[in-house]
Amino acid sequence: MENIFSVLDHVNVWQNLLDVLEKESDNPVDFAFLEAFQFAGIEGSFVKLIAPDHFRQNWLESHYKALVETTLRKIDPAIEGYKVSIANVDRKIEIPQLNLQAVPLPKKPKVSHTKKELPSLYCHYSFDNFIQGHCNEVALKTSMAIAQNPGEKSMNPLYLYGSTGLGKTHLMQSMARYLLAHRTSDHIVYRNAEQFLNDAVARYKGSFEEKKKAIAHYSETYEKADILLLDDIHILEKKEHTQELLLHLLDSFRLHHKQVILCSDRKPAEFSQMSEKLISRFEEGLTVSIDALDYSTRLEILKNKASDLSFPKEEEESIFRCIASLPISNVRELEGFISKMRANQELMKKTLSLDFIQSLAHISANIESPSLTPQHIIETTASTFGVDSSLLSSKKQNQSLSLPRKMAMYLCREYTSETLQNIGSLFNRDYATVIASIKSIKKELGTNNSLSQKANEIKEALRIS
Ligand code: ADP
Ligand code: MG
Repeated sequence: MENIFSVLDHVNVWQNLLDVLEKESDNPVDFAFLEAFQFAGIEGSFVKLIAPDHFRQNWLESHYKALVETTLRKIDPAIEGYKVSIANVDRKIEIPQLNLQAVPLPKKPKVSHTKKELPSLYCHYSFDNFIQGHCNEVALKTSMAIAQNPGEKSMNPLYLYGSTGLGKTHLMQSMARYLLAHRTSDHIVYRNAEQFLNDAVARYKGSFEEKKKAIAHYSETYEKADILLLDDIHILEKKEHTQELLLHLLDSFRLHHKQVILCSDRKPAEFSQMSEKLISRFEEGLTVSIDALDYSTRLEILKNKASDLSFPKEEEESIFRCIASLPISNVRELEGFISKMRANQELMKKTLSLDFIQSLAHISANIESPSLTPQHIIETTASTFGVDSSLLSSKKQNQSLSLPRKMAMYLCREYTSETLQNIGSLFNRDYATVIASIKSIKKELGTNNSLSQKANEIKEALRIS
């Protein structure tokens, strides 16, 4: 059955429910209890939840069923209810199906889709929102061509490389989304090389039964794929056994004209601890780079991604030129700078004048200084809220911890260059929880004066206000 929500909502439905209950419920609600459930995607018109244990599953059914169902329907009338299972096998959030309408390339007739293998696609990566510039034009055009016509010998494998934050994953996932939408009978697998490494190593670990299961999983996922996309393969340096497995996979894919797409942070020849045979396989197809941001691409991305911000009209052009001249080498950093401007405009009600932007640029230049580390943010946030900083990374869910935890996640995202995954691991949470927490705290900062006052106090203490 077709899913009824957008991908972003998939990530946030349970968090939305907690927000709505917090605002609207007249009856006492035990939030610590509800926060212990994990949102696990959508099945048909049902929200899937994972309960930490049987006790809480039963308790939810007997005490909160009606309230949860009514609130879910308030969030989206198409929701029929929820299904709860017990945490064990897979605690990761699934993104079961994707909203693919945005992909701008021509459609092929659809056949039934038998296997979906895209558990970790970010909801906002598509060709549609990839901004073209000198530094990425070839990579973008090649990626689109391969997505339309995979398996072409001269482009198999496609080896995409470039420094961090330049859009490799964005392009890989755009290809995966496009392929998933248009080659619906193919088994398309997108994985980070770290997952590949884990799946490969799992085949040698544990009991006989566990090994058997891991071997079957590996074979089903990788060997039986029709199109394989592996991100960040530089992770496989020094991993000889896994390199050997990848070599076999690449040979088998090429033999059967099945497309492989690889990406890494360096040219094949620049590996020092990768097998020679593998390096020669990487070079067998097409090698394409994404280069460091140039001025005009920086300007283009800036204008596009900051289009919702308002600058004094007479200064706008100078402001854009000022930002585009900053020594920002990758898009992730540029996005970080735009988020800072947005936070200042929306939350702190600052006017984004040229003077202000210049001072913000000055502060940003100090971002990497040792004083503004995630740890520093966590400690300052915890002490402003009067809680122990170590508890922010604990699994404890009560309200007195969840607010400072969300605040610290938000500040880490805004004022450091850490990725969502890294922030998640600092707090022992997955990236979807980080996204949901940041969204929820931003919403609250817009309406809750005492909370935004707290945010200011923390920023002052961190010298980022
Ligand atoms: P990499 O995998 O090379 O480290 P990512 O693909 O994760 O980089 O990109 C980092 C961030 O920059 C992402 O949010 C991505 O959407 C964005 N980004 C990178 N290049 C572009 C581009 N050309 N247009 C729009 N967004 C981009
Ligand atoms: Mg990446």
